[in-house]
Amino acid sequence: MRKLIVAGNWKMNTSVAEGVELAKKVSAYAQQKNLPAGKQIVIAPPFTHLAPVAGVIDANKVILAAQDCAATKNGAYTGEVSASMLKGLGVKAVILGHSERRQYFKENSEILLKKIKLALEEGLDVIFCVGETKDQREAGANLYFNVIKAQLVDTVFTLTKEEFAKIVIAYEPVWAIGTGLTATPEQAQEIHEFIRKEVAANFGAQVAEDTTILYGGSCKPSNAAEIFAKKDVDGGLIGGAALKAEDFGKIIDAR
Ligand code: PEP
Repeated sequence: MRKLIVAGNWKMNTSVAEGVELAKKVSAYAQQKNLPAGKQIVIAPPFTHLAPVAGVIDANKVILAAQDCAATKNGAYTGEVSASMLKGLGVKAVILGHSERRQYFKENSEILLKKIKLALEEGLDVIFCVGETKDQREAGANLYFNVIKAQLVDTVFTLTKEEFAKIVIAYEPVWAIGTGLTATPEQAQEIHEFIRKEVAANFGAQVAEDTTILYGGSCKPSNAAEIFAKKDVDGGLIGGAALKAEDFGKIIDAR
C-alpha cells in the first residue's frame, strides 16, 4: 500500500542542542497525534545530530533519516559517512540525489546509483530526489519531462522490482527549493502523474500504484494542503519549514 510521508530535511542547520530540542518536539507531536498506519513522519538532521536525536525520538513514530551517504562501502575516504555507519546509529532512510548535492558536490547518476545500492544493501529506505532547474523548466515541457525521466532511468529504474519497493521518489523542482516559489498544485500533479506513469511502464501498474511520490520546494503550512490534495502527491519533503516544529506539524496535518 502507498505510504503518505512528510519528511523534514534540516540541511546544515541547527546546533546539536537545537536539533535535539526540535526532534523532541516533533516526536512529542507524533505521539500525541496517533497517526494512522501508512502515514509516516521522517526527519533528516545533519550527520552530527543523528546519534543524540536517535536517543530522544520515539522510533515507532518518527523515522530517522540521513541527508546523504558515501558512494563507497568503507576505507580511505576522508570525511565520508557510510550507509552501514548510519544503519548502526538507528537511521532507517537516506535522502539521495538532492539538487544541492547534484549542484554543489557534482553528484551525477553514476555516483547516485552507487549510493542507492549501498543504502539498499544496508536495508535503508531511499528518498530519491529528482527535478528540473529553472532554465530547463523555461525551455518547455518536452525538456523538463525528459530531464526527470533521465534522472530516473539512469538510477532507480535500473533496480529490481524488490529493490525499487524501498524507494520513495521526491519531485523537487530546483527553481522552487528555498526560493519561496512553489510549484502550483497543477504543476506538481502534472509531474507526479508523469513519474507514476514512467514507474508503471518500467515496473508495472501495481508497483506504480504503491510508489510514494513526495513534492518538495518551498512547501509551508499555507500551501501544503492544496498541493497534497492532488491525487498523485503522497506528501512532502520539507526544507525550511521543517525547522520549526509548529510549522512542520501543520504540514503533517495537511495530508
Ligand atoms: C528541500 O531542500 O528538500 C526543500 C524542499 O527545501 P525548501 O522546503 O526550503 O524549499
